[in-house]
Amino acid sequence: MADQAFVTLTTNDAYAKGALVLGCSLKQQGTTRKLVVLSTPQVSDAMRKALETVFDEVLTVDVLDSGDSAHLTLMKRPELGVTLTKLHCWSLTQYSKCVFMDADTLVLANIDDLFEREELSAAPDPGWPDCFNSGVFVYQPSAETYSQLLQLAAEQGSFDGGDQGLLNTFFSSWATTDIRKHLPFIYNMSSISIYSYLPAFKAFGASAKVVHFLGRVKPWNYTYDPQTKSVKSVSHDTPMTHPELLGLWWGLFTTSIAPLLQTFGLTHGPGSYLSVVALRLAYSLAFSCGFCRKEQVSGAVSHLSLGESPAAPQPFVSSEERKERWEQGQADYLGVDSFDNIQRKLDTYLQ
Ligand code: UDP
Ligand code: MN
Repeated sequence: MADQAFVTLTTNDAYAKGALVLGCSLKQQGTTRKLVVLSTPQVSDAMRKALETVFDEVLTVDVLDSGDSAHLTLMKRPELGVTLTKLHCWSLTQYSKCVFMDADTLVLANIDDLFEREELSAAPDPGWPDCFNSGVFVYQPSAETYSQLLQLAAEQGSFDGGDQGLLNTFFSSWATTDIRKHLPFIYNMSSISIYSYLPAFKAFGASAKVVHFLGRVKPWNYTYDPQTKSVKSVSHDTPMTHPELLGLWWGLFTTSIAPLLQTFGLTHGPGSYLSVVALRLAYSLAFSCGFCRKEQVSGAVSHLSLGESPAAPQPFVSSEERKERWEQGQADYLGVDSFDNIQRKLDTYLQ
């Protein structure tokens, strides 16, 4: 089993929260496989340390420095940057078989049986079921496949501008050739399907093994009140994914990840409920016998921001643009969106 791994990817601290919750959920469900996260240099050192406690391997990939073919490809198609980073999973040739999972997925049951499947196994995409969704897929690392994928990216690009279009072109026989390569939808149940086919969700949703928070707004973009266990939308015009599913993500984040981040120098921001001391106590209670256990920690934080001092003044960004960035999980934690700034704003209102 040591040569098989679950692999995920994060290019920033926001997606890293997702990766941590995913890694934790895999452990909770008792996986016997290794956990690997690919990350880029944009991920902060503190976050990298947190990732190291949950994942067996935290590998830094910088597509611009990752070899000639990747570099050349990127030069021709800079828009495929994140996509190429995901393709890097094929270069993990120390493993014989892997399951890639997006950082916005959450595991609800043991899915080690996925390793019985062959490359490329994936579930249908809810938007176009003749395409597979690239949020969860079984693959076989191979230097040759990796370079062929990069070549395809350079020559043809991706029909959707992302990894899913490229992978569907490369593994184009998926739709018609071998039904065993069609994973049941419960291995990649996108929250979107709840709205597109509610009766099916009611009938089969309870047997979901993996939830995929596909779409623009991710679980970490919401705020959560651990006291009432309720998830709040970031703004009125932001659609709310199924609250129960979001609640599952936040439950795990609150009990296992928030205390962990706290110990690595990440402070809690607005809406937090515990003092630093209580958090440290909660952390030691939760993690004294290993990470990602199901013990309940009394209370926790709902929102986190980096605990370093705010950076130098940033160039002006319109509030619309800032809102957009927040919703994409790219708040400027060290600058204009730092906790100090938010607190100052709240103080002005309160006065
Ligand atoms: N990703 C990332 N940083 C980004 C965007 C994406 O690390 O800025 C990674 C992350 O693992 C994410 C995956 O690429 O889960 C695919 O992107 P996303 O989940 O946002 O796409 P969706 O599933 O919503 O189509
Ligand atoms: Mn995703």
